[in-house]
Amino acid sequence: MKPAKFDYHVPRSVDEALTILERYQGEARLLAGGQSLVPMMNFRVAQPAAIVDLNRIPGLDLIEEADRLVRVGAMARQRRLESDAVIGERLPLLQEAIGWIGHLPTRSRGTIGGSIAHADPAAEIPMVLHALDGEVVARGPQGERRIPASDLFLGPLTTALGPAEVLTEVRLPAMAPGGGHAIEEFARRKGDFALAAVAVIVVRDGERCMKARLATAGTGPVPRRLHEAEAILEQRGLGEAAITAAADKAAELVEPMSDHHASADFRRHLTAVLTRRAVAKAIKDRRQ
Ligand code: FAD
Repeated sequence: MKPAKFDYHVPRSVDEALTILERYQGEARLLAGGQSLVPMMNFRVAQPAAIVDLNRIPGLDLIEEADRLVRVGAMARQRRLESDAVIGERLPLLQEAIGWIGHLPTRSRGTIGGSIAHADPAAEIPMVLHALDGEVVARGPQGERRIPASDLFLGPLTTALGPAEVLTEVRLPAMAPGGGHAIEEFARRKGDFALAAVAVIVVRDGERCMKARLATAGTGPVPRRLHEAEAILEQRGLGEAAITAAADKAAELVEPMSDHHASADFRRHLTAVLTRRAVAKAIKDRRQ
């Protein structure tokens, strides 16, 4: 299939992009890596009146770290993040997650901002944004605002970003010293979207769990944190019984749906198995 007719604009600044978006009153779509938007347009699932191409706007792909906060420009390519030294050092969970996304060609074009704005419930980057208590910076007609992960994802392919807003930056706290991380995912084939995925960070002192962060993807309408499962680890430690209790709680918390790929029950079962594995792996992966 081919996309329906559309106007094409190539702004050279975010302000110029905002002016164009304003003119189309919600009928224009921003183009980043095109790895989700273009297939949707080819299948006529999306028929925007105009495309506003972000690829010629300088400065939207920065990677900077200051005071243990990592700022990543929305147009940073997934492939670049996959091999970037700052990301590897400060955000190893994000770097590991990106390896699960699609294939090298899709990661070479796909961007961090596009993945977040697209908000596929099974996407890895939104799950990591939750696990790291990250936020995004958006610019729109009312100026600039910051949206925490907890307020950003509203439903499948739906975020709190307005139709005339550009996501310009992703802000992620650097992993705590001594923290361990892990991602466990189950997909039909490598590169497919997750049937279920769990991202874990633990900061421990011996058997004690000083901080646990658990987030999941593919197991509900939006990626989500598993706060009650985190509390079990923080209160009961990191022994076998506590990990099993946290995994069982995680399976209780998710709201998976059944589709032609997997039943809700199977996704729930996967959540427990993947949580147990990811916590065990994160305990072993202790960064200095
Ligand atoms: P686009 O496709 O350009 O845009 C996506 C949406 O976000 C559009 O609605 C667009 O208007 C909006 N948008 C883009 N940038 C901004 C911005 N800065 N501000 C506001 N709105 C914006 N993803 C996964 O997470 N896991 C996978 O396993 C996976 N497998 C894939 C396999 C294949 C074969 C393909 C083609 C894609 C796969 N993807 C997967 C999707 C891929 O990661 C996309 O890159 C991502 O979902 C969208 O990023 P993009 O930069 O290509 O955005």
